[in-house]
Amino acid sequence: MAEKRNESTHPEAGDLKERLTAEQYQITQEQGTEPAFANRYWDFEGRGVYHCVVCGNELFSSSSKYHSGTGWPSFYAPTREDAVVLTEDRSLGMTRTEVTCGRCGSHLGHVFPDGPRPSGQRYCMNSAALSFVEEQT
Ligand code: FE
Repeated sequence: MAEKRNESTHPEAGDLKERLTAEQYQITQEQGTEPAFANRYWDFEGRGVYHCVVCGNELFSSSSKYHSGTGWPSFYAPTREDAVVLTEDRSLGMTRTEVTCGRCGSHLGHVFPDGPRPSGQRYCMNSAALSFVEEQT
């Protein structure tokens, strides 16, 4: 299990516990992972932008979403290079690349080098870390 972060370094941790659901908190603040195929956006096809559920930062456009077959919402690229931050994650006996929000540092998911063109990257996200805003036409 991921090491629980020291809440003293997160002055808003108490507020977040009130503002987020237990699942949103566990995933975004404690590096949790939601179950595959049993989450909000894995098979969702709306057109719009996915934001950080904690701070509202724009993260992924639906135009970069694709069907990875993994059961989690998957994107080949973020909206901007600085929308997310990538960090090596050696938890659970694996070496993976963690994806966190570029604005608030919340855990979003991981990125793997087996995605489609044009980037070859698979940003494997937790639906509970995302908030979808539909495109206005
Ligand atoms: Fe954020």
